[in-house]
Amino acid sequence: MKTISSLLDKQWHDRYKRISTLNIRSSIYDVTNRCNLRCKGCFFFSSGEHQVEEETDIKKWEDFIDAEKERGVNLAILIGGEPTLCMDRVESFYRRLPSYCATNGLIKLDRKRFPDLMVGISLWGGGEDEKILRGRDTFAISSKNYAGDPYTYYLYTITPKQVGKIEPVIKQIVDVGLKVHLQLLSNDESVDGFSWQPSELKDLRSEMDGVLDRYPRTVISSKYYHEVITTGMMMGRNFCWNECPSVTESLDNRKPQPRRLIRFARWAADLKTVHRCCTSATRDCSTCKDGAAHMSWIMVNKREHMKSTKDLQNWIEVYEMFAKLYSFIPW
Ligand code: SF4
Ligand code: SF4
Repeated sequence: MKTISSLLDKQWHDRYKRISTLNIRSSIYDVTNRCNLRCKGCFFFSSGEHQVEEETDIKKWEDFIDAEKERGVNLAILIGGEPTLCMDRVESFYRRLPSYCATNGLIKLDRKRFPDLMVGISLWGGGEDEKILRGRDTFAISSKNYAGDPYTYYLYTITPKQVGKIEPVIKQIVDVGLKVHLQLLSNDESVDGFSWQPSELKDLRSEMDGVLDRYPRTVISSKYYHEVITTGMMMGRNFCWNECPSVTESLDNRKPQPRRLIRFARWAADLKTVHRCCTSATRDCSTCKDGAAHMSWIMVNKREHMKSTKDLQNWIEVYEMFAKLYSFIPW
């Protein structure tokens, strides 16, 4: 086995050292079962994960979060439904744990109450595509709410209809002074024309590389991540159930156990139920394009990337990307 020192020069070694001590232990929380949109292809509603009785007693949320902290969680990823419909719950997390809030951006988080909470705004393409899938052009509202905010980025879910049309969306984001991270739609509700074809994924990869080259201060990404998410392959292995790192630990009965996120759980809003994984409980894993699961897949497989200097540099870039997106290191 090669060593880190033999593979990296001083500059890369310093970058490695900066991330190697982070020891990120994330879990995901459905803050509420409600949303002010109903997007076609929303994994949460299409999988029925909202069908639990929501806990409404804020004291029970606070006790639960304290127990999660005790369990070793040091990154709370808040999703939903729409978390901003329950600001008191968001605040309970924010006051106890390093937190990240995924939102559709229609309701503005008050920066006096949440000065440095990292916010990821979901975006499903240009205005017309958003109207088809989400019923409205959310960018028109979210960009007004968050323009220039240093702790906000767009989480741009690219659909097959967006191939060849990404750059104008990136330019819009540049113009409102925000950053963007790219991921791919998994067509959970089989909307016609929104499932990926191999040639579209190939074209998309070079398009993603192109916008990263042209907008390096805006696009938070890495070419290796683009390769892995568009091909579903990493170091000759296929992304699938047997490889997935983002499975709730207490439900993970795979044998042998793959490398996985330690202590990871995805909790429902009743604070009792856990879902199978970081995304849809009913998704066929062979169609899964979840960006965070692919990033984590790379991150938990460091040893695999110690074959060459380039492989290890790729791994470092993906780890840095994740650490920036969740506020562990600056942009
Ligand atoms: S905004 Fe998010 S949670 Fe709400 S319906 Fe759309 S994808 Fe689902
Ligand atoms: S749907 Fe995706 S994230 Fe969930 S277990 Fe399957 S591969 Fe993993």
